Amino acid sequence: MTVSSQDAPRDAVPDSVPAAEVAGPRLRAALEDIPAYLPGRPAAARADGRAVYKLSSNENPYPPLPGVLEAAVGAAGAFNRYPDLAAGELLAELSGHFGVPVSHLATGTGSVGVAQQLLQATAGPGDEVVYAWRSFEAYPIITQISGATSVRVPLTAGEEHDLDAMADAVTDRTRLVFVCTPNNPTGTAIGHAALSRFLDRVPSDVLVVIDEAYREFVRDDAAADGLALYRDRPNVCVLRTFSKAYGLAGLRVGFAVAHEPVAAALRKTAVPFGVSQIAQNAAIASLRAEPALLERVAALVTERTRVADALREQGWPVPDSQANFVWLRLGADTARFAAACEEAGVTVRPFAGEGVRITVAEPEANDVVLATAAAFRTSAQS
Ligand SMILES: *Cc1c(COP(=O)(O)O)cnc(C)c1O
Repeated sequence: MTVSSQDAPRDAVPDSVPAAEVAGPRLRAALEDIPAYLPGRPAAARADGRAVYKLSSNENPYPPLPGVLEAAVGAAGAFNRYPDLAAGELLAELSGHFGVPVSHLATGTGSVGVAQQLLQATAGPGDEVVYAWRSFEAYPIITQISGATSVRVPLTAGEEHDLDAMADAVTDRTRLVFVCTPNNPTGTAIGHAALSRFLDRVPSDVLVVIDEAYREFVRDDAAADGLALYRDRPNVCVLRTFSKAYGLAGLRVGFAVAHEPVAAALRKTAVPFGVSQIAQNAAIASLRAEPALLERVAALVTERTRVADALREQGWPVPDSQANFVWLRLGADTARFAAACEEAGVTVRPFAGEGVRITVAEPEANDVVLATAAAFRTSAQS
């Protein structure tokens, strides 16, 4: 019987070489055992039709800021064309907004994309990358991809960066240090004076990356201001993103502020045309919608205070969060607590055996968290 190629069952092609005899392409050993990036789980639909909330990825619960959707849709009409490679208009807008020269700015596919470019530019096999742990889960992944070795410095008992220990961990093999403030997932912010002293201790040929993904939510006046710290320090790079406060997580646009030649290295390592015109135009419109942004951020900060206070009232130790999430160190109870939240209609982000990160969102969602946490404490104590 002849079978036309159109009708051939998929598993019948190709029929040439048995898989066992083929070596397959050689992949870099660095890729073995890379931990998978675990995205926050989506909210599970409920049979009873009650509302469900995704509080697992620190996303903004609000729709796009005024004018942003229009800017994005306008750009979408021209997506047969490549975007502006240099993101010129966006860089000009950022330059004016943050008071930094255009030559000190570089954009990327989210600030994770920019962080990966920084590793490409600085580190490879035999080099070391220092960061606090637990911190942002992308750090170990992108470090391992680069071939460099992670040096993790445990957080203090207060869930903060141990900057003295981190400075001690810097060796002549260190090429990059990540400092995450506020820290994901604990929410704690580093003090400005403490970070300044730390930077004084790090050799000037080691790049220090201050990841400020949650900067807009900071209300502690003593917290570190990366943009003030980078100005007279050529080895400091500040990472910012449009994914969290600005609510553009799905459009993938972040940026770095750094002196030459770091900013130039970021332009060299960028995936050409990685940031779409839709993302560029939406980011510009977002920057221009600052009053509405500040209003939303203020509402989330108010909710953060309400949630943290209520949890403490219930007896939970809650570290001071300067971000749009709170951290509960649940240890062995982590999975059970996350399951209780899921059951109640909110999806949180568990870190097995350590704790749960809960995004602060709309009041109704936060109320579900508080009720679930109260019930969990009562059942744990009985
Ligand atoms: C969410 C987050 C980012 C930003 O990621 P994007 O790639 O910009 O979406 C960066 N750093 C930390 C610590 C984060 O939590």
